[in-house]
Amino acid sequence: MSVEQAPVHRADFDQVMVPNYAPAAFIPVRGEGSRVWDQAGRERVDFSGGIAVNVLGHCHPALVNALTEQGNKLWHVSNVFTNEPALQLAKKLVDATFAERVFFCNSGAEANEAAFKLARRVAFDRYGEEKYEIVAALNSFHGRTLFTVSVGGQPKYSDGFGPKITGIRHVPFNDLEALKAIVSDKTCAVVLEPVQGEGGVLPADLAYLQGARELCNQHNALLIFDEVQCGMGRSGHLFAYMHYGVIPDIVSSAKSLGGGFPIGAMLTTEALAKHFPVGTHGTTYGGNPLACAVAGAVFDVLTTPGVLEGVQAKHQKFKARLEGIGQHYGIFSQVRGLGLLIGCVLSEAWKGKARAVFDAAEQENLMILQAGPDVIRFAPSLVVEDADIDEGLDRFERAVAKLTQG
Ligand code: PLP
Repeated sequence: MSVEQAPVHRADFDQVMVPNYAPAAFIPVRGEGSRVWDQAGRERVDFSGGIAVNVLGHCHPALVNALTEQGNKLWHVSNVFTNEPALQLAKKLVDATFAERVFFCNSGAEANEAAFKLARRVAFDRYGEEKYEIVAALNSFHGRTLFTVSVGGQPKYSDGFGPKITGIRHVPFNDLEALKAIVSDKTCAVVLEPVQGEGGVLPADLAYLQGARELCNQHNALLIFDEVQCGMGRSGHLFAYMHYGVIPDIVSSAKSLGGGFPIGAMLTTEALAKHFPVGTHGTTYGGNPLACAVAGAVFDVLTTPGVLEGVQAKHQKFKARLEGIGQHYGIFSQVRGLGLLIGCVLSEAWKGKARAVFDAAEQENLMILQAGPDVIRFAPSLVVEDADIDEGLDRFERAVAKLTQG
């Protein structure tokens, strides 16, 4: 029996919610594949994917099935007990990656928090208390806990919250010389997003990641890849490190991992995992059966032959059309990214106006994303139908045409 709920509207947000978000004017109520419907029944094409989360679109039957099946069995037991979906998912991740051990949590920030704490603990145990520096890239994004905003290198997210976590050094992204100049025997870890997501959909250069790997080896530092946004299929490979062929010591994952159900994971080796013995780290919900059952289904669909292979063709379809739009309307200077994480860099004349493009798209019933003020970001479902790509990009072109033609 369900209890009838009072109607709510967007205006209620401002009355009852902490004002740290500014959601769109409409409220989505239903989704299917790459389409979403709002309260008024208006249909939209979704190229935002819940910020690179809905990797299989909305309400994918395999995910709905996993969720309802598990929902009728067992929701939560805590880590006082283990559970079948968590062990099944961990085995899948271990079998498919460099990793030998998995720590589950609930978000990207928590996966990174675990990664940073593990790196410091490993260095402390092996080399003593002087080896604690974390080297990260400017303009990176690793989450919103105090540790992760401190590592993130964007003062707008970390200023004004009292003393920051210290022992973190920042260098420009994709600048190997700058990395060489700063990594030392005090460095416990170098943390990089193989594709900077929030920072503007900026893929790392291969030589940069290879150089980072070598530097870490020279200085007994760990290489951490934050694959919260670019991992779990988005690059066209299960993880972006596989695209580059550079093996990290720790990978953090979230977002697409659960396809819309909150889950995060830190993947690492057995030798490193040993430094988190019983009681050193934890979270009540980590490895929750519902989350792991859904993530297990996401994994199974993503690794079905043909799914990841299809990402490259969809990338080309997006890129060709977006480049055409960029040229025709003079709005983009570059279309970049890997797989289905695509960034369109606004041209000089449109710099700083990503919000206006976002709003214009909304008017045309299209959901897209910004990645900062200068980049329009597309993070659609990896199984988005070609017809939806065409329809969504038609809407996008109409939005850009109206915007640029006044
Ligand atoms: N790391 C990266 C690369 C991200 O893009 C994000 C979120 O955008 C995070 C970490 C934080 O993840 P969450 O919001 O799930 O804490």
